[in-house]
Amino acid sequence: MLEIEGLRAGYNGSDAIRAVSMRIEAGSVVALLGPNGAGKSTLVNAISGLNRASAGSIRFEGTDITRLSAPEIVELGIVQVPEGRQLFGPLSVAENLSLGFQRLSGRPGAKALFRERLDYVYALFPRLQERAGQRAITLSGGEQSMVAVGRALMADPRLLLLDEPSIGLAPLVVELLFGVLGTLRESGLTMLVVEQHAEESLRVADYGYVMASGAITAQGTGAELAASEALQHSYLGEHPAELKVRA
Ligand code: ATP
Repeated sequence: MLEIEGLRAGYNGSDAIRAVSMRIEAGSVVALLGPNGAGKSTLVNAISGLNRASAGSIRFEGTDITRLSAPEIVELGIVQVPEGRQLFGPLSVAENLSLGFQRLSGRPGAKALFRERLDYVYALFPRLQERAGQRAITLSGGEQSMVAVGRALMADPRLLLLDEPSIGLAPLVVELLFGVLGTLRESGLTMLVVEQHAEESLRVADYGYVMASGAITAQGTGAELAASEALQHSYLGEHPAELKVRA
């Protein structure tokens, strides 16, 4: 579904990612792991058109999207849950969710489709239905993450990019969020999940990449990565043996 070849991107003329290549098969979940500053967000933002690539290419379902704008990329069905959630604080949960429907708002039968998407999101996150009228800024961190994921799902994505959706959340909430990602995986949604929680993300992922200093340093299945020295040394630190992943 997505093929990245030799991608470079960065800021103010210096590369934050160098010669990155990656593949995401349709229907699969790919985890992107790595320490702070590795270049994960830069890569995700290059896919969604928020950062410009200075070299290399990104192809989505055979189309070269390297030079497309962010709105054009959303139109193709690549939808991002941005780092830090980026909700509209004064707006209600329902209003934040409905903003995600923008991509589909011009389609025939949009009204029924909107109701269908909203019911789908509320079924995944019943808490959001309970809080539909509450201002986003007053929600807990976990609830805000649910709104950010729900808003992206309102667009009925073909490829969902999640940039550290679980950052700063309590362990139980992280578990709940990854439970939902597992449900989305079962429904066949293709996802790229950037995560600090290596264990949880590799459990839900079919394949993973490890980044360090702007380059891919390891890739493989969860089990392969769990045994990989690159992951152990550059990322997990002292306790690699405790990593438990889906076989
Ligand atoms: P984290 O897990 O902390 O979010 P990351 O792996 O997502 O880290 P990036 O945010 O992609 O890493 O950052 C990669 C490098 O690019 C870092 O050295 C960072 O300081 C730099 N960088 C990121 N955003 C900008 C920016 N807007 N302007 C200048 N440099 C930036």
